Amino acid sequence: MHEEPEVAVLRLGHRPGRDERITTHVGLTARALGADRAILAGQASSRADTVEDITDRFGGPFETETVESWRPVVRDWDGNVVHLTMYGLEVQNVEDEIRGTLQADRDPLLVVVGAEKVPFEVYEWADWNVAVTNQPHSEIASLAVFLDRLFEGRELDREWEDAQKTVIPQAIGKRVEEPDE
Ligand code: SAM
Repeated sequence: MHEEPEVAVLRLGHRPGRDERITTHVGLTARALGADRAILAGQASSRADTVEDITDRFGGPFETETVESWRPVVRDWDGNVVHLTMYGLEVQNVEDEIRGTLQADRDPLLVVVGAEKVPFEVYEWADWNVAVTNQPHSEIASLAVFLDRLFEGRELDREWEDAQKTVIPQAIGKRVEEPDE
C-alpha cells in the first residue's frame, strides 16, 4: 500500500467521556483498513496510546500523531482533503474522481471525520465533502466504507510488519501466532 500516496485520517470534535471508544475505533479502523496515519486532535489525543498499543502488538506500519488543534491540520494540508459528511456528494459518484486525482498528483490525502456538529470551514476547506449514503450514521462506518472504496478492497490483503501477534484465520475458533514466544 505504501507506493500509494499517503492517507491520513483526522478525528475532530472528540467529546471527553462520551467519545472515548468511538475515537479509539476511528484510529483502529483507519489502521486496519489501509490508512497510513491517524491524527488525533485536542482531547482525542488521550486515545493515542490504545491505537499505538494495537500497532505494537498486531503490526504496522501505522503512525498515530497527536496535535493540539485540528484547524491548522486541515487549513494547511499540503494535499487533498476529503471530509466525510452525510450532507456531501455520494461516495459512489466521486470515488473515481478522488482516486484519479490521487494517482495523478501523488499528494497525500487527509480524510476528516467529525463527532458533533462540524464547523462549516471544514466543508469549505475540503476538496470533496463525501457522503456514505445521505443518512445519518457513524464516523466509524463512513470511514470504513470510504477507505474500502478508495482502495478498491486491496487493503483487505495488506501485509503487516513487525507484528508480535498474527491471527491465523479459522473457520471456527481462535488461533494467534506469537513468533517471539
Ligand atoms: N450532526 C453532525 C454534523 O452535522 O456534522 C454529525 C454527527 S455524526 C454522529 C459524526 C460523524 O460521522 C460526522 O461528522 C461524519 O464524519 C460521520 N458521518 C455520519 N454519517 C455520515 C454519512 N452518511 N456519510 C459520511 N459521513 C458520515
